[in-house]
Amino acid sequence: MHVLIDAGALCVETMIEKGVSAPDVLFLTHPHFDHVSDLDRLANSRMRGIMVQRGARDFEEKEEEECLFRPLTVIGTDDCLNHPLDGVRTRFGYLEGLVRWMPIPGYDLWHSVQGLDGPDDFAGAEYPFHLEFKALPVRHSKHAPGSCLFIFRFRSDELRDRSGEQGKGSLLFRNVVISGDLKSMEDWVIKSPDLRDPACMVLDSNTIKASGKYHASFEENKALIRRWCSGDEEVLVLLNHLSGFGDYRDGNYDHVPDDEDWKAAVEEFVPPPMVTVRIAEDGACFAPPQFD
Ligand SMILES: [Zn+2]
Ligand SMILES: [Zn+2]
Repeated sequence: MHVLIDAGALCVETMIEKGVSAPDVLFLTHPHFDHVSDLDRLANSRMRGIMVQRGARDFEEKEEEECLFRPLTVIGTDDCLNHPLDGVRTRFGYLEGLVRWMPIPGYDLWHSVQGLDGPDDFAGAEYPFHLEFKALPVRHSKHAPGSCLFIFRFRSDELRDRSGEQGKGSLLFRNVVISGDLKSMEDWVIKSPDLRDPACMVLDSNTIKASGKYHASFEENKALIRRWCSGDEEVLVLLNHLSGFGDYRDGNYDHVPDDEDWKAAVEEFVPPPMVTVRIAEDGACFAPPQFD
């Protein structure tokens, strides 16, 4: 199963360049343009890709057509998708049919991708994992209603089969946390046990030191890393959304920090034991130890 988080511009090119298959499910953290601007091209290119890949031209049998051309499932909070002014659906509603909008029914509840009135089977493919997720609200910008972070967890099919009940298999892997854009979180969110010692977490780190209005800095994220990582488990922390402009504006640097500056900042930080912090480079492949 290919799960994509957010669809900002160049994601289609990057996936083609890297030979990554079209996603089955798209999760949206919030409706800002830099996170959704490629949604139209993604939905169209994906359908075109499916047609070419399957050599399908024959639309005669309705059932088969539905199975072959399963729309892209787009999952986001209700406000992220449906907000009357800023919701993604407000701008991309015309993609209905190429995508299937799936608002998340509530925060802090585990949902199963397979069980959310969704892609119960992915036409012919075999997936070894049962994917579950939950959304927790984050503070970002007033023009990004419904901003959230996602926590994913995976259950093994094998165990699920043995228990004989869907979704009741033993937990096999630790959580994966994807922050989306965030400035801060309410206290109850920060305290969520689901954020403790994940296998991997991706954090929005817009600046190195400068405290911005809408995004967390690496400095602020250090506090989160120390809080969430006990030091008893291996955790891979990836920093993304790097800009650094605020560091230049605030005089922390006499230039906008470049790759070397970011690298130096990461190297200076001493995280808790067993925690690795890295910059998420474009197109790079990362695997937490337990996924190797
Ligand atoms: Zn944003
Ligand atoms: Zn952003």
